[in-house]
Amino acid sequence: NKQIIFRDYVSGFPRESDLNITTTTIDLRLPEGSTSVLVKNLYLSCDPYMRICMGKPDPLSSSLVPPYKTDSNMKRMCMLDHFSDIKLPIIGLGVSKVIDSGHPDYKKGDLLWGLVGWEEYSVITLTHYSHFKIQHTDVPLSYYTGLLGMPGMTAYAGFYEICSPKKGETVFVSAASGAVGQLVGQFAKLMGCYVVGSAGSKEKVDLLKTKFGFDDAFNYKEEKDFSAALRRYFPEGIDIYFENVGGKMLDAVLINMRLHGRVAVCGMISQYNLEDPEGVHNLPTILYKRIQLQGFGVCDFYDKYSKFLDFVLPYIREGKITYVEDIAEGFESGPSALLGLFEGKNVGKQLFVVAHE
Ligand code: NDP
Repeated sequence: NKQIIFRDYVSGFPRESDLNITTTTIDLRLPEGSTSVLVKNLYLSCDPYMRICMGKPDPLSSSLVPPYKTDSNMKRMCMLDHFSDIKLPIIGLGVSKVIDSGHPDYKKGDLLWGLVGWEEYSVITLTHYSHFKIQHTDVPLSYYTGLLGMPGMTAYAGFYEICSPKKGETVFVSAASGAVGQLVGQFAKLMGCYVVGSAGSKEKVDLLKTKFGFDDAFNYKEEKDFSAALRRYFPEGIDIYFENVGGKMLDAVLINMRLHGRVAVCGMISQYNLEDPEGVHNLPTILYKRIQLQGFGVCDFYDKYSKFLDFVLPYIREGKITYVEDIAEGFESGPSALLGLFEGKNVGKQLFVVAHE
């Protein structure tokens, strides 16, 4: 059973050497009486929040994203040499096939998505909303790491529940071509909004305009003054900002917001590798423009997952919602695929294939 093990807490940009690939053995049958489920992992998902799990435990972020157990703190906790080979793979989201089950809701051959180890086979304990059985297989299975999984739910909950969009409103999305952003833009178009996205390359900007139907898009790496760029695309101001990056972009957006605008704070990827997060200077605008700025975690919205599927599946089947994935091949590609997120190497939802069923 190949596994990806997290070496020790990271500060600054993570490196591939922070993640080691090891091999252990695993019994492909569950012990008698177990209520767990043994799965074969097919696709594993690379998600920005995993960088937060790699940082030193911090009570602030831990309430939303718990830190990983590291190889070295496991060894320190065990303190005994003969336990020093205990390894824990990092945890992430994946699409998996059931090999053996002691749980009444799952049988051999079922497909599920949810939390698994970054390894070829995982024994999982089912808790509330930790895993979802895959019922619809007429769409690509890999979509359950993205469009039909956690990022899809994030876009859905963030846009409809937090932003309270109305037809004709102006919407700005940062990291717009990624797993979450590309969907927010498409939801905004379905709602009849005017939507502009920012992304980090010409290829991504072209995708936003030609594939995802954004009204306009710009490459933030080519803009010296984000605020001036936003004024160009939103001369009347922004009603809704779907925040994925934080830092200077958030600052520039705040002064370009309209009265009673809404900001859904989904993520702040530009800050995850910084020791000291950048300051935001334009906070008084929140008061003057009566802006509603709300952070949210997708984990608080999983009770709406089946409603989300009922909403999104018809659009996918009719070709009205499209999705771009960046699929790395093979278990060994996992660490570099994950780290590539922080350099914008991914074009669309990043995942990697562990096994083709
Ligand atoms: P993406 O697929 O968008 O991948 C990350 C992208 O972020 C990169 O491709 C890159 O795109 C951009 N990026 C990386 N570093 C920087 C930087 N320093 N400044 C600006 N942009 C950068 O990821 P997701 O769609 O999965 O996630 C988007 C955001 O949503 C993240 O912040 C994530 O943490 C958050 N999130 C929050 C959830 C919640 O429950 N609140 C759930 C899921 C995601 P580019 O080339 O355009 O720079």
